[in-house]
Amino acid sequence: MNEKNIYIIRCGETALKGQNKPYFERMLADRIKKILKKFPGIEVKRHEGLIFVRAEKATDEKEILKETGKVFGIASISPAVEVESDMEKIGTAAVSYMNDLIKKNGIRTFKVEAKRADKSFPVKSPDIAKKIGAAVLKGCGVLGVDVHDPDVHLFVDLRHDKTYIYQQKIKGFGGLPLGTNGRGMILLSGGIDSPVAAWMMAKRGMQIEAVHFHSYPYTSQRAQEKVAELASILAIYCSRFKLHMINLLPIQEKIVQNCPEEETTVLLRRFMMRIAEKVAEAAGCGMLITGESLGQVASQTADAIIVTDEAVQMPVMRPLIAMDKVDIMDIAKEIETYEVSIKPYEDCCTVFLPKHPVTRPKIERIKRSEERLCADELIEKALGSEEICEIYPK
Ligand code: ATP
Ligand code: MG
Repeated sequence: MNEKNIYIIRCGETALKGQNKPYFERMLADRIKKILKKFPGIEVKRHEGLIFVRAEKATDEKEILKETGKVFGIASISPAVEVESDMEKIGTAAVSYMNDLIKKNGIRTFKVEAKRADKSFPVKSPDIAKKIGAAVLKGCGVLGVDVHDPDVHLFVDLRHDKTYIYQQKIKGFGGLPLGTNGRGMILLSGGIDSPVAAWMMAKRGMQIEAVHFHSYPYTSQRAQEKVAELASILAIYCSRFKLHMINLLPIQEKIVQNCPEEETTVLLRRFMMRIAEKVAEAAGCGMLITGESLGQVASQTADAIIVTDEAVQMPVMRPLIAMDKVDIMDIAKEIETYEVSIKPYEDCCTVFLPKHPVTRPKIERIKRSEERLCADELIEKALGSEEICEIYPK
């Protein structure tokens, strides 16, 4: 028989989705299948609210865990051993499982945690725990039981046809399966925040697409490549997507020539939002996403955000709005965008940066400044500069 390694995957909030539960589970299983298809002989099956992955013995466990660890919607995953639901067979399997662990990790104490999903099974959970505990004590001479602080919790999960033995519940990211919650357009800079914002929305099931503004040739080709690199890290989690590159330089020049210096950033941000809205509409995205965080910089004060928001009709998601920079940085490090984000390339916002940007812009004044600009024409022209790159997981 071609025996395989088994992984039990527990669905996160998907488990709460009532009548839509099968849909969410199917989406999650499909995503897991897609991400694991590079390994030969992978099987992904849904069963009793769980997802079971079977992989060839030769496939490295660490690789499987690393890859599934990037899938949104997973609460936890356990590499497990499958055995027929028969007390003697469970006992034998538990002994061999523990002997392997002793060899690998030199453990000394354990505790059995038994669960009986199949209530028709004649032995009750506490008795299963006692009997399997006794079998392990006998079969693994060096071990002792510690019910308070054991080296290993030996889980015995008795289901209808099979029983699963495992010792770890490795936490996943949680969230919801990708593609279960609409499409959003992230305004992606080369900074730390916007990749995290995109990741957070994708974690809630949103399919993302991205728009980046540059000021070529004031900003370099390298700066654009950096954004594409960030996007390709995001694609590991969010699947492949399109990155729209737009040249903002003509608009910046027009603003600098015609408007008060301190309004430059706010005016530019309103243009960014309007252009992003048009790109989003054309791409079938119903929302914009930004990496703004309240008060982080002059353009993110409450007043500035109100003025920025006023430029568009589309809902703007700001998942980082109430987060501190250090906490955003922690996520950036965890998802491995941080090292790329801190590479020192210029952003279009730093070209023509005003010395004293307004922190409390007034919408009437900003609109008066805009009247000098023929906004629609500028926006059309900027959209004409659009280049689209297909981004694949790094
Ligand atoms: P980040 O680390 O995301 O660059 P930041 O603190 O530098 O954020 P800002 O430059 O004010 O903040 O930008 C706020 C948000 O506006 C960004 O998170 C991003 O969503 C969007 N944004 C800024 N610059 C660009 C750009 N060049 N292209 C696309 N979106 C941008
Ligand atoms: Mg930025």
